[in-house]
Amino acid sequence: MHLTRLRLAGDPRGWGRLIGRGSDCSVGDNGKAMGELRDTLGRPLRNLRLSVTDRCNLRCNYCMPEEEYVWLAREHLLTFEELSRLVEVFVSVGVTRIRLTGGEPLLRRDLDVLVAELARKPGIRDLAMTTNGLLLAEQADALKRAGLHRVTVSLDTLDPRRFERLTRREGHDRVLAGLEAARRAGFRGTKLDAVVMRGVNDDEIGALLRFARSIGAEMRFIEYMDVGGATRWTREQVVSRAEILAAVERELGPWSPIVPSEEEGSAPAERFRLADGTTFGVIASTTAPFCGRCDRSRLTADGVWYLCLYAASGLDLRSPLRRGASDDELRARLVPTWRRRDDRGAEERLALHDRTASQPAAALKGDPHLEMHTRGG
Ligand code: SAM
Repeated sequence: MHLTRLRLAGDPRGWGRLIGRGSDCSVGDNGKAMGELRDTLGRPLRNLRLSVTDRCNLRCNYCMPEEEYVWLAREHLLTFEELSRLVEVFVSVGVTRIRLTGGEPLLRRDLDVLVAELARKPGIRDLAMTTNGLLLAEQADALKRAGLHRVTVSLDTLDPRRFERLTRREGHDRVLAGLEAARRAGFRGTKLDAVVMRGVNDDEIGALLRFARSIGAEMRFIEYMDVGGATRWTREQVVSRAEILAAVERELGPWSPIVPSEEEGSAPAERFRLADGTTFGVIASTTAPFCGRCDRSRLTADGVWYLCLYAASGLDLRSPLRRGASDDELRARLVPTWRRRDDRGAEERLALHDRTASQPAAALKGDPHLEMHTRGG
C-alpha cells in the first residue's frame, strides 16, 4: 500500500509527559497546551478543515464521478455542539484557522448557527468556507452576519454548458448569483478555485483570471490531484503549474512571484502578481507538493481526524467524545498523534513511477472515509 498510514494515539493518560523530541508542546497546570505543538517534521498544527457533510449537490468528474455513494451513517454525524466542542479542543492545542468544507457545506442545515458559534471563539483568527456556490445566494447574508470571514467558491468554467458536462448538474447561473450575493453581503478577500484539466477547461485560464479580477476576487488554479474520489485521474490530464503560468503569461502578460509573508508561509497556493497588480495563486499539489510546510488536518463530518489528504486511516474522535471524554482526555489523543505525524502523502505520490488514480472505485465503495468529499478538499 503506497498510502501513508496514520498511527493512532498512544496512552491517553501520558500526554503530559510527552515533551521533547519532535515537539516543543508542553502542558501547563491547567491541562492546556503551552508552546507550539509540532510534528516530526517540525510542522505546527494550525489549520483545521471541518467537513460538515459528505453530501454534495454536484457530481464533478474530478471529485464525485459516481451518481451514488456509500454515505456516512446519519447517526454518526457530529452535531453542532459536538463540532464546536472539538474545535475548542483543537484551538487549545494550536489551531487558529478553520475552513468549513464538505461535501457541500451549504447543504448542512442552519450552517450559520455553527458559524456564529465558531466565530465567538477567541482563538480563531481565520474562519473561512469552501463552497460550490449553488446555495450561496440564499445564505450569504446570514453567513456574513454570523461572522464568517471569507468564502472560496469553486468555479471551473465560465461556460454554462461546460459546467453541466463537468458537474452533471445545472446551476452555473446560481453560482454566479452566489458570488454577487457574497459581494453584496460584504465578503472581501473572496477566492475562486478552478481545477485545471487538459482538454476540459485549460483553454479558460485567461478568461477565469479576467473574470475573477472583474468581481474583485482572487483566482486559484489547482492542479488536478489523484486524491480519493478522482477515480478517473490520469497523469496526462494534469495541467502543471508551469503550464498554467505559461498560459497566464501568454494571455495576460508577465507575472512576478509574491514573496509570502510569515502568515502565508504554509498556504498551499503560491501567489503571483500581474503588471496591473492583479494577484492569483497556483496550488501545485501534484507536481510540486508542499508537504514540508503543510500545517493542515481534516475532521470528517462523523468525527474522524485525518492528518493528510492521502492518509489511509484517521483517528476516531467521535467515540471518546460520545463516551463523555473530558477536554483533557481529548487533548491527550490529539497531541501525541500530531507529534508522531510524518505524513508526506503528495510527495510520496510524486515519487511513484506508474501513477494512476490513488483509489479504485471499488475500494471507495467499501470505505467512504477514503473519499475527497468525505475528508473535505
Ligand atoms: N463542495 C465544495 C466545493 O465545491 O468547493 C467544497 C468541497 S470540495 C471537495 C473542495 C475543493 O476540492 C474544491 O475546490 C475542489 O475543486 C477541490 N477538489 C476536489 N477534487 C479535486 C481533485 N481531484 N484535484 C484537485 N482539487 C480537487
